[in-house]
Amino acid sequence: MRFGINTLDDIDVKDKTVLCRVDINQPVDRATGTLKDTTRIEACIPTLKELNSKGAKLVLLAHQGSDIEYKNFYTTEPHAKALSKFLGKEVKFIDDVCGPAAREAIKALKSGDILLLDNVRFVSEEQTLFETKLLLSHEEQAKTLLVRKLAPLGDVYVCDAFAAAHRDQPSLCGFEQLLPSAMGRLFEEEFCVVSGLMEKPERPCVFVLGGAKISDAFLMMNAVLGGGSADKVLSGGLVGEVLLWADGKDIGEPARAFIKKEGYENLVETAKELLAKYRDKIVMPTDFASVEAGKRVEYPPGKIPTAALILDIGAETAKKYQEAIRSAKTVFVNGPMGVFEEAATEAGTRLVWDALGDTAAYTVIGGGDSITATKKYGKTADINYICTGGGALIRFLTGDELPVVKALRHGSGIKQKK
Ligand code: ADP
Ligand code: MG
Repeated sequence: MRFGINTLDDIDVKDKTVLCRVDINQPVDRATGTLKDTTRIEACIPTLKELNSKGAKLVLLAHQGSDIEYKNFYTTEPHAKALSKFLGKEVKFIDDVCGPAAREAIKALKSGDILLLDNVRFVSEEQTLFETKLLLSHEEQAKTLLVRKLAPLGDVYVCDAFAAAHRDQPSLCGFEQLLPSAMGRLFEEEFCVVSGLMEKPERPCVFVLGGAKISDAFLMMNAVLGGGSADKVLSGGLVGEVLLWADGKDIGEPARAFIKKEGYENLVETAKELLAKYRDKIVMPTDFASVEAGKRVEYPPGKIPTAALILDIGAETAKKYQEAIRSAKTVFVNGPMGVFEEAATEAGTRLVWDALGDTAAYTVIGGGDSITATKKYGKTADINYICTGGGALIRFLTGDELPVVKALRHGSGIKQKK
């Protein structure tokens, strides 16, 4: 038991049917039916190996893409092949989620077998619309088709999908109402790392926040500055621009228009409140870079580009951030400092990531684009922890209880039948 949730040490899986929810959502190439990346598939292998070696009849539930991420909405068939490869053992696949064919295949499992069901989001109640508009309670989720059909066939439910722990959907929060539940090893590890960040980071603890999807960044700042876990926030990307705007600086009409277009103008007020309370802990960029005629143009301190769009932090800011990262004991990063995908505007992100690579601090990175930057700059091996669950990690750091954590705590209280 950890954090009020059973671990794999607390459940008996030998000869039991284990319904195991994983997050192996990956970018797919629909034209060829192949996966473009297998990071998340590799990450859940230790849990699957452990359950398999303990003699479970293992049923895997997973989603791929969604109604709002339709380009990746696809069958999980390629995932079964990838899982088989990394496990060195056949993972069967059935092109059904909870219909008669899937249920027959589950009933036919023998100890040591592994079966992957098709994309759980092929079932309507797993769709985002249900989550965001109907707001089903966990009790109601336990009455959805998926849970009604599959729970009676399972002895225990295991969730290893930390990356989806911020989602409130039947495959993630419904089974725990009916079955004894536990978290898998990846879930346990990620939960442990992010709790450590919130509760007892080694100090000084620095948060580096940038990027372009920034509403959570502001909630996060409020929680980690208010709760005292962050000693400093280094800001870049749109986070930095919104803070500067709130501080009364002229960031130029192009940047203001961009922030408005992205729907973040309301964050300026939030940023003002944060600055009023925590000014001494919030660091804003002092110089910038933009692009003119395809070339990088640096704007020295005191000169914010106002006719062109801000696209990167400048050299002085990057140097200051490097020093802060190198003298910290804990560093958390979410979001690049600029448009690092383009050669002209990648320097700020590259310099910050260089420091992440060689600092002695304990480093944690979350967020899809931040992980892409880490790979681009060859820092994957140097970062202490790369969290597969960007959205979940950030939601956790905003101080919210994650729906799946709540559900797992409930399911951990259900006794297993001997
Ligand atoms: P993550 O996936 O790591 O959470 P985000 O999705 O929040 O990161 O943001 C990543 C994106 O932010 C990148 O595609 C990058 O090009 C963009 N970005 C960074 N700085 C700026 C900026 N100043 N203006 C516009 N886009 C930016
Ligand atoms: Mg982000």
